[in-house]
Amino acid sequence: MKIAVLSVNPKLYSTERLLTVGRERGHEVECIDYMKCYMNITAHNPVVIFEGRPLTDLDAIIPRIGASGTFYGCAVVRQFELMGVYAVNGSQAISRSRDKLRSLQILAKEGIGLPVTGFAHSTEHIGDLIKMVKGAPLVIKLLEGTQGIGVVLAETRKAAESVIEAFRGLKANILVQEFIKEAAGCDIRAFVVGKKVVASMKRQADGDEFRSNLHRGGSATKIKLTPEERSTAIRAAKAMNLRVSGVDILRSNHGPVVMEVNSSPGLEGIENTTGVNVAERIFMHIETRAEKGVKKDSV
Ligand code: ADP
Ligand code: MG
Repeated sequence: MKIAVLSVNPKLYSTERLLTVGRERGHEVECIDYMKCYMNITAHNPVVIFEGRPLTDLDAIIPRIGASGTFYGCAVVRQFELMGVYAVNGSQAISRSRDKLRSLQILAKEGIGLPVTGFAHSTEHIGDLIKMVKGAPLVIKLLEGTQGIGVVLAETRKAAESVIEAFRGLKANILVQEFIKEAAGCDIRAFVVGKKVVASMKRQADGDEFRSNLHRGGSATKIKLTPEERSTAIRAAKAMNLRVSGVDILRSNHGPVVMEVNSSPGLEGIENTTGVNVAERIFMHIETRAEKGVKKDSV
């Protein structure tokens, strides 16, 4: 099959793995920098052009859209979808996953366990918002942060009030969330491909840090999920309509709660921690799905 990995840099670990493993499996795989693609929006004949070359004969694309390239990256993925190319993750699913509030609303609709979360536009109701999430300590998040940047733990009600006011003063969109203290700086990353959790790891925050992101110095170990955690991860991925995703779960007193579902989950941490060839699982999924034909997402 002819497959493109949509990524800005072929040297990134995840991109490099996908290129290598895909080729090993006999596919023609290339890295396409979606930020350098351009497109024509004409009736009946949508095309994506890269380095002067129309990309007309691809069977599938694996989007690896970075947080800062979401808007344009999703437009490129959408164009491929219009062309009938199988996108491992569709443009709509990717853009939904980038908005933490929208994601939580989708997950809530499916009855998936979530930390109690509040959201408001004005600072008039801060007091109520804080009460709603069971008071301080609580977590404040920028709606579009990633890698732990923009996630703040406010230990006291006073700190919470000033951080919320400061963010709102900067016109930043934030959500306020119950702090799951019992998780003790640990979270679970479940890597879901199709309808299966193919690998899972536990991440422990560094020292007295509460964010367990590997980018924030967290360390990872392989774990086996409970059946409830496994089904939560699969349901979350399905609700978001993502075929490849990293579902982040906290172990709370009221069962597993989903924090977020990532649409371009990194391969380095999960493959090195678990020894699972995750890149191969992604290609196995493409091989079976592309045979069945493309089911288009709505544009
Ligand atoms: P990002 O998209 O930046 O990774 P997350 O929502 O995943 O943002 O939060 C980053 C980390 O902060 C999580 O991996 C987790 O360790 C910690 N964290 C986030 N929300 C909570 C919460 N409500 N309670 C406890 N810890 C949390
Ligand atoms: Mg995260």
